[in-house]
Order: sequence, then C-alpha cells, then structure tokens
Amino acid sequence: MLPRHTKIVATLGPATDRPGVLDQLIAAGLDCARLNCSHGTQDDQRRRAREVRAAAERAGRPVALMFDLQGPKLRLSADTGQRMVEVGETICFAGAEVPADGDPDRVDVDFAGFANLVTERSEIVIGDGVPRMTAERVEDGLVTTRVVSRGPLSPRKGITVTYARPTLPAITEKDLADLDVAVEMDADFVALSFVRSGADMQALRDLLHERGSDARTIAKVEKVEGYERLDEVIAASDGIMVARGDYGVEAGVARVPLMQKDTIVRSTQAGKLVITATHMLESMVSSAEPTRAEAADVANAVIDGSSAVMLSAETSVGAHPVEAVLAMGQIAEAAEEAPQIRGAAHTVEPLGPDAALMHAAINLADDVDACALIVPTATGGTVRACAKYRHRRPIIALAHNPRVANQLALEWAVRPTTLPAAESVDELIEAALEHARDFAGLDPGSQAVLTAGRRTGTPGATNLITLRDIP
Ligand code: PEP
Repeated sequence: MLPRHTKIVATLGPATDRPGVLDQLIAAGLDCARLNCSHGTQDDQRRRAREVRAAAERAGRPVALMFDLQGPKLRLSADTGQRMVEVGETICFAGAEVPADGDPDRVDVDFAGFANLVTERSEIVIGDGVPRMTAERVEDGLVTTRVVSRGPLSPRKGITVTYARPTLPAITEKDLADLDVAVEMDADFVALSFVRSGADMQALRDLLHERGSDARTIAKVEKVEGYERLDEVIAASDGIMVARGDYGVEAGVARVPLMQKDTIVRSTQAGKLVITATHMLESMVSSAEPTRAEAADVANAVIDGSSAVMLSAETSVGAHPVEAVLAMGQIAEAAEEAPQIRGAAHTVEPLGPDAALMHAAINLADDVDACALIVPTATGGTVRACAKYRHRRPIIALAHNPRVANQLALEWAVRPTTLPAAESVDELIEAALEHARDFAGLDPGSQAVLTAGRRTGTPGATNLITLRDIP
C-alpha cells in the first residue's frame, strides 16, 4: 500500500498503448486514467477504457476511469501539416465551410464560421501559447494573420481566438457522442472542458442522468468566464480541475498561479475534490528526470491542498511515462510532510451531519493517534466528507459497491477497496476490521477509528464512531 495521500491522474495515449505500460503505470502509483476525447477515435477510447479495467483487475486495486470531453474547443484540421511558423510570416486560416483551394500554406480549422469569431483586436493562439498571431484581414471566410511569436503547427492542435464572441454551445455534438461512449464504458468521472457557468455543469449532470449514469462530474476551469463564476461552478460539480494550459492562453500565464491557489482553496472549502493539471513535469516528455522547478511546482500544488495532480503529454505521448508517474508520486509524498497542508482544509465548517460526524472521527483519530480511519460506505459520501480535511491518517474506504471504490480512488488519503454490506452492525464492524487489516497491512493490536451506520448498507445512515483494536 502506498503511503502517499495525493492522487495521480495520468492521461493515456500512444505512449501508454505499448504492451505492459499500463500495468507499470498502475504499479508506479496511477490512481485515475484520463481519456482525453480531444485526441483519438471513439474506438481508441473504448479500447483504452477496457484496458484500464483489465489492468486494474490484474493489479487488484481500484483505478478510476475519467472521460474528458473536449467541450467547445476549436482545433486545426487533422490534415494540417507539421511545421514551425516564424515571426513575421503570414498565415491564412479557413473555416470548415470554405472549399479547399489547393493552397498548401492555408491552415484549415475544424469549425464552420471560424472567421465570424474574429474581431479587430483578436489574437489567434495555437496550443498552449505559441505560435501566436494577430488578425490582419477577414475576407470570404478566410482570416489572414501575421505571426508575432514563433511556434509549431500540427494536426488537431487547439486554436484559441482571444475576445471571441461565445457562439459555441457548452456541450457540442461531438461531446454528446463521446458522452455516449463514456456511459457505455461506465466511466467513473466525466470532465467537461471550457466550462463557463454552473448551468454548463448542471447540463452535463442532466445528460448523465438521462443516460442512467451516476458518473461524477469534473469542471475544467480554463476560461476567465468560468473562473469568474467559480462558486456556482463548484456548487454544480463533484470536482474541479485547474486546467492551467488553456487558462494561461486566455488570461495570460502570469495569472495562472493565483487562479490555481484560489481555485484549490475554494474547492477544498466547499468539500469538492480538486485536480491541478498541465505542464507539471513537462520536461519529462523527453527527459527521464524532472527539473527542480517542476518538482517545486508539484510540491506547491500538493501543499496548497490539491486532491490530485495530473500528467498529460508526459504520459500520453512522452518518452518516459512510467518514470513520470514515479517522479510525481515521490515529489507528492515528500511534500505531504509540509505542516501547512491542512491550512485551508482546517477552516472548513462541517456542512451537514455526515461532515460533522467525520470531523469528530478525525479529531478522535488525532487524539488517540489511531493508525487509520476505517469507513464502510454505500455511496462514498462519508468518505468524501472525511477526505476534505486533508487528514494525515489513511482513510480505508470499504465500499459496498465497486463503482464507489473506483470513484473514491481520486480522493485525498483514501485507500478504497470493496466489502459487501453486512446483516448487522456488529458483523459489519468485525468484517471491516479484518478486511482493513489485511488490505492495508494494519498492525494487529493498534487502534483504529471506525465509523458505521445502525442501518448497514443504507446511504446517509452513518451515525456511529467507535475506537477499536485491530484484531
Ligand atoms: C488544460 O488546458 O490545462 C487542460 C487540462 O486541457 P486539455 O489537456 O484538454 O487541453
């Protein structure tokens, strides 16, 4: 069992498709596999989802599966040529409705009406910041631009028009088709990109319910508009992702650090999980070791209170995906020694009876220096109520349902496993103590705090805290 409390999300891609790599990622400490629907086909997502389930089964531990919907993001067409563009060069972009004209230098954008988004003061930005162009002329669906920062063009790269009029729906036709695949593959989490309001997240939740899915929802905060409405976005979501790449494109990189810190604190205080993402170990796309600055970045995200930290290109297309997960785990674990971690979480007011009960359980565990908190759970609610305190003792979550165990894999300090509900509370307590001992290697004779409900297996029925010796 890993002593690390901060969870690791890794994005799958061609680099993790190589035989054996997924098993090695899980052995290295992967907690959640992210399928980025912006890349690959739906059959790729299906295949990778099956592979995640099979590898988790082989490893004998829950691994969460996250589908990340592209949202209203514009992209260059799949047949864009791979090349560098230099400062001063003229580049012409065409919307999807403009017929091909044989010009090899023209760059097509996968969106009809692209030219209508561009205003006089617009800049066109590719990928996470470069190349960057100023718009010079808009004519017949074509946008002529001049390059102001050099950088690469490549197929399917994101393209941002700054100050664009928001004409795109929050959930596109492509997202709906990808959502069907996510539901078909029983995704544990569905993330939505470019969230602008709480209503966007409510729409995602409604679509999941209509499809009979109880996948938990993650809002990617990467638009200035979404950040300005952060409280309503947090309230309408099960978790938040600090998506630093696209936020940096729109707001400018200088504004990323404070947005990150503020989003982590506000998500934690609301009791929601929060993932810090993008460029965390970027040099490991090609290098086998992270830079010192990257190590400090991961550590700061952990110390600020992130539930999880995320790898993108490092694992999906990088040369060292397994080393990246290992390095991230080691940095996170070392950072968890920082006394400040509970700072933000300590100020959380217990919200409702579950949270109040878990708050009391945590205080008891601290007072008696318990080896662990053992929490049988039907829905995961009590476990989440506990995780938000960024408590230093492991929380052994005994989920009655394997899906809940998968979803709890992303929560701070939670070691999820499955244990069937019992007939009586006494039976549940005995089974829970033995199972937690064997699963987590708890020392017989040490003390643990255990929570339970008089109505076993019933959601919301936890009403008992007991201090027990591990048998
Ligand atoms: C980001 O922009 O930081 C991000 C996580 O989004 P994506 O990887 O989908 O571009």
